[in-house]
Amino acid sequence: MFEMDTIAALATPLSPSGIGIIRISGPEAVINTDKIFCGKVALSDAKTHTIHYGKIYDGDDVVDEVLVSVMRGPHSYTGEDVTEINCHGGVLVMKKILSLVYRLGIRPAEPGEFTKRAFLNGRLDLSQAASVMDVIEADSEAALKNSIKQLKGAFSDELKGIRDQILHETAYIEAALDDPEHYDLGIYGQTLKDKIVPVIAKLEKLSQSYKEGSLLHNGIRTAIVGRPNVGKSSLLNFLSRQERAIVSNIPGTTRDTLEESVSLGEITLHLIDTAGIRNTDDTIEKIGVDRAFASIDQADLILFLLDSSRPLSEDDKKLYSEIEEKQVVLLCNKSDLEFHSDIEEFCKNVHCPVVYFSTKTGDGKDELVDVITKMFFRGELAGAEDFYVSSERDKLELDSAVHSLQYVCQSIDDGMSEDFYTVDLMDAYSALGRILGEAVDEDLVNRIFADFCMGK
Ligand code: GDP
Repeated sequence: MFEMDTIAALATPLSPSGIGIIRISGPEAVINTDKIFCGKVALSDAKTHTIHYGKIYDGDDVVDEVLVSVMRGPHSYTGEDVTEINCHGGVLVMKKILSLVYRLGIRPAEPGEFTKRAFLNGRLDLSQAASVMDVIEADSEAALKNSIKQLKGAFSDELKGIRDQILHETAYIEAALDDPEHYDLGIYGQTLKDKIVPVIAKLEKLSQSYKEGSLLHNGIRTAIVGRPNVGKSSLLNFLSRQERAIVSNIPGTTRDTLEESVSLGEITLHLIDTAGIRNTDDTIEKIGVDRAFASIDQADLILFLLDSSRPLSEDDKKLYSEIEEKQVVLLCNKSDLEFHSDIEEFCKNVHCPVVYFSTKTGDGKDELVDVITKMFFRGELAGAEDFYVSSERDKLELDSAVHSLQYVCQSIDDGMSEDFYTVDLMDAYSALGRILGEAVDEDLVNRIFADFCMGK
């Protein structure tokens, strides 16, 4: 346990709501909460993991009727003594109780400081601690499932297993070098290589999952393109209206490209509705078209819309020829209207998946989600045994471990002496350890937790 002061913060948003929670953690948490709380039992006498009804007082004045949870370390979130004051969720009342708490000499917590303490006190490793924020921010089923797996230690356990194996082999080599009479390193090189090759494959698979993990957690950047009037804005509105509870406006968008994040069950699309693309001499419209092309360049996925009720235009063909090398889904919109033969003919000759869609009736939505899932996640999203690495830092450390283990194999192939192996084995061991938070410097830890929200 680290010697810490006592900290407090509001764990719920500072906006009117049913309840507000003020979280206090540290050696003085219980004693200090007791100074402003009056209930049947003094909190200092309360057993751990109990909840108590009472009132918060400012001198003789009652500030609020509350429930206070008492969780004593080491079996609490932070590993320290923790109290949580559940008060009414009015802005003024929450502020008043918080200022009473600060007046007792308790320090305001920094963002992520509760979770940082959980890490420093060994309640969570760094990978698990980082996943706490992913759980909070997850906006699709699959991202949430993946974050929970990481929080429960699926990724950490895998890494710990591999580190144990590396340590075991290193210890064997060291022992053999020290005591050649009792340990035989005769064919050890080949035995070691047979063990390392599957480990490399495992680590490479995890590293390669980063691309998908990042799309899962950040959303697939999806540009909606097509000539004017094919239904681009209708598509954006349709998809966001379907899931309006989890749609968020992205600030800083321009008049001509609108952006919204839309969660469609397992996946999140970060949609960009571009200006209609066509040949034009109008200066303003040209700027919109240029921006549309910039969005196409940055997109992971392009939803290319055609109006299936109208003849194919030169603009449609030209646009398709400019994007066909990218990840494209052709959406034949307005499938509720009569089909134009041009469109059917065109669809037969394209290389990308085709979905018949109607923003009026919603037809094609499930198929669109299936097609995208297959394109980006090989259709195997969130299988029980699959885990997607979502942090770039973790991916780089995995790559570094893979390189070190490949050097070990190279040394074995080149017939180098065994002490060469141990250096690279220990490099791989350290790289995997850094993912778990072992021997990482304070700046890195501070940077990771600085991205957290207040009160977590
Ligand atoms: P944009 O210029 O590509 O953004 O096209 P809009 O979304 O503004 O749509 C152009 C017109 O097509 C509007 O009148 C829409 O109501 C209509 N529209 C869009 N999607 C559909 C559809 O699926 N079926 C039908 N029948 N009309 C649609």
